[in-house]
Amino acid sequence: MIRESYRNANHHRSRTGFPALAALLAIFIAAPRLRGDEPYARSRDYDLQHSKIALRFDLDQKKVLGEVTHSLSILRDGSTKIAFDSVGLNIQSVTLNKASAKFETSADKLIIPLPAAAKTGEKFDVAIRYEGKPAKGIYFILPDKDYPDRPKQIWTQGESEDTRYYLPTYDYPNNRLTTETILTVPASWITVSNGKLISVSDAGKGLKTWYWKESVPSSTYLITVVAGEFDEVKDTWRGIPVTYYAPKGRGDRLPINYGRTPAMMELFSKKFGVDYAWEKYAQVMVDEFVAGGMENSSATTNSSNSLVHPKLAPEYFTGQDDLISHELGHQWFGDLVTCKDWGDIWLNEGFATFLEEVWTEVHFGKDQADYERWNNAREWFESGNLWKKPIVRHDFDDSSEFDGNAYNKAGWVLYMLRHQIGEDAFYRGLKHYLEVNRGKNVVTSDLSRAIEEATHTNVDQFFSQWLYGAGGPKFELGYSYDSEKHQVMLAVKQTQKVEGRVGLFRVPAEVEITTASGPKLYDITVSKDHQTFPLPAESAPLMVLFDKGGHVLKSAEFHKEKKEWLYQSKNAVDLADRADAVVALGKMKNDEEVIGALGETLRNDKAWGVRATAADALGQIGGASASKLLLAALDSNDKPWVRNRVVSALGNFKDDAAVAAKLNSIAKQDDSYRARAAALQALGRLKGPNAFATLEATVAADSPDDFLRKAALRSLGSLGDDKAVPLLLQWSAAGKPLDSRTAAINSLGRLQKDNKDITKQIAAYLTEPHFPVRMASIYALGGRGDATAVPALEALLKSDDLSIEMAPMIKAQIARLKKPANGKPDANHGAGDSGEESSEGSDEKLTTEQRLEKLEHLLQEMSERLKSMEKRLPPPKQ
Ligand SMILES: [Zn+2]
Repeated sequence: MIRESYRNANHHRSRTGFPALAALLAIFIAAPRLRGDEPYARSRDYDLQHSKIALRFDLDQKKVLGEVTHSLSILRDGSTKIAFDSVGLNIQSVTLNKASAKFETSADKLIIPLPAAAKTGEKFDVAIRYEGKPAKGIYFILPDKDYPDRPKQIWTQGESEDTRYYLPTYDYPNNRLTTETILTVPASWITVSNGKLISVSDAGKGLKTWYWKESVPSSTYLITVVAGEFDEVKDTWRGIPVTYYAPKGRGDRLPINYGRTPAMMELFSKKFGVDYAWEKYAQVMVDEFVAGGMENSSATTNSSNSLVHPKLAPEYFTGQDDLISHELGHQWFGDLVTCKDWGDIWLNEGFATFLEEVWTEVHFGKDQADYERWNNAREWFESGNLWKKPIVRHDFDDSSEFDGNAYNKAGWVLYMLRHQIGEDAFYRGLKHYLEVNRGKNVVTSDLSRAIEEATHTNVDQFFSQWLYGAGGPKFELGYSYDSEKHQVMLAVKQTQKVEGRVGLFRVPAEVEITTASGPKLYDITVSKDHQTFPLPAESAPLMVLFDKGGHVLKSAEFHKEKKEWLYQSKNAVDLADRADAVVALGKMKNDEEVIGALGETLRNDKAWGVRATAADALGQIGGASASKLLLAALDSNDKPWVRNRVVSALGNFKDDAAVAAKLNSIAKQDDSYRARAAALQALGRLKGPNAFATLEATVAADSPDDFLRKAALRSLGSLGDDKAVPLLLQWSAAGKPLDSRTAAINSLGRLQKDNKDITKQIAAYLTEPHFPVRMASIYALGGRGDATAVPALEALLKSDDLSIEMAPMIKAQIARLKKPANGKPDANHGAGDSGEESSEGSDEKLTTEQRLEKLEHLLQEMSERLKSMEKRLPPPKQ
């Protein structure tokens, strides 16, 4: 699943000077939940082997009418009952081996007493008739008075423990079953479920019955049901059906966004030496999805946000491939081999994240993969709340196990493992792991054992520090040259605080020393807190690289002179080393030589990621020379994914007439929609004289998927001009497109903060069923600081249809509003103190007023990023 968002929200943040936002976002995501997932696998009383699930739907009532028959085998002598997970379902009848049976229900269980104590191996068929109006697990997206034309959709989201809300079942990963899914729906609908489509038959009264059968066992959280009005596009891979579905009317967007799926299936099948295991691969894109994507066995569900308009899609270098490769990768790592408990969720998510990079590397090239990995490392080191937690952990009662360690860090760790033991050995190990554990549930030691068995390489120390240990190495580096001995003395210090689960790291690293006679590479292993490595060098070095190419997850402060960074920015072969140099140069203010060099990098570096990083650096440095270089770069017509970064960088230049004019002109007309959107945002930040007119005109005009309108609406909040209130009220209103509404609501919340009518209007949106509108309104109210919104938020908290992330977020906003105005509006702990630490240690030096201002800014930024947050979608990284 993709559901975390801190990693997505970071790219821009870290460059625009709000590094703490990542931590803040992670804290909101990780706020206490209504019910924590069970960290350890349960002891089992029975083995659920097969479920035949027949569902009908009452659309008016948003009800599920179900009949499920479970076939199970007793695992424990003397068992006197069978218990299923079941929440909020009305159980109508139960039969046991076809005989009517008694049953009891509790808040979260259906219990069926057995007539006599059962023996190990005894088999039962348990048939359950039930109905329910589930609060989660299954979602009804239907037309209403405000949106009469939207395609009808019903879809499920099981992970982590939500299947029990629409199906009484064994709802924990450590059980595997085959399924039949029988769905009776209106005749014009399409359905998608796990496995093979066996038949579609007439069911009378304008209904049809779709019969799906999955013969490869998997866990109950991977069961999927999707039904509704969809367009379908068919493809194949090695004779296996590959199908894509879009909500009706958007089928033309499928090929451009999803067309590379078969090539990914081919790549992964070859790399793993284990072919794609399921009978088909479907990807269904649904509206208002509660996650970015979900890897249900053989039938992934993704957010329809991934159906990018054909006019916008070419502006994203890697398209939607991160999402698509992530969910596809899970079909092996997650579905075919499944974590036994949530404490080992990295075995699902770390692999899926790593496999995004594997696809990127092969299809988009090494520079792109290097750039993403370089960014991911920086982001991970900025998310302070992850630092002290190991990847494998079972103490997540107060936070989510789906955190940045399970995804980002674990993906990085797999990359390091591949680098350290070598590509061949790594994939030999994975093949063995997949073969031995195929159709089973695993814990972390199953992976290390499989690698050792296949390669005879002991990886225990690696697993110990990276997976069971926490933190990462923070290096401080420097060197001197001994011209008599012809030696570079490289001093390496590990500066991370050794405490809790964070220790000293033992890591191999390549050191490259370049002298006038060329580069030489040396392998060293760092293991102590202070070490000095003497390395041969014929003459004084021009460049010394530690961990050349960036193959270790680390932060490094290498003390170098300006001329060395300049040399490195031009001459280092690998992207990570050039990008590091650009970042170091970006910290040197008022230096024309540095500015000139960054300008050259912006024009000439072969990797777009380095060019874009140079644009960020020039934006940070500021001043007339830097703005001139950025403006000149806009004439070269670079790729949209660089151009929008150059435009964003220009948003830092206040009171520069040439910049304001250029931004205004790009906002109105440019070949790149992304550059135009970036210009609109920058205009709001700069608060220039013409900004309101330009933004207002943009809101009035159409663009693909309202792309520019949304950017202008968001920017009106930053601009802070009260003239925008009527326009924002108009675009916040029910009936307008949901995305435009969320943008308008965010901005509205930031204007006329003492106007109670605006507060009241935003509070009125809380009762709407639309998830994005609700989320935007909750945040807008929290950020507004008007305590009259508290009763409305408290009332919302009591409603029974909140998705699992929503309640803690509402609590956090209420807490913000209840803090006294001059106190510390410490949103970090708003949700009842989750024990997360703030990464804003430097705040102690700030005055209360500065601190408030900074926090307000962070929250505004967060509010602008709301869209990616609620969608849990990885926005394109370019
Ligand atoms: Zn995932």
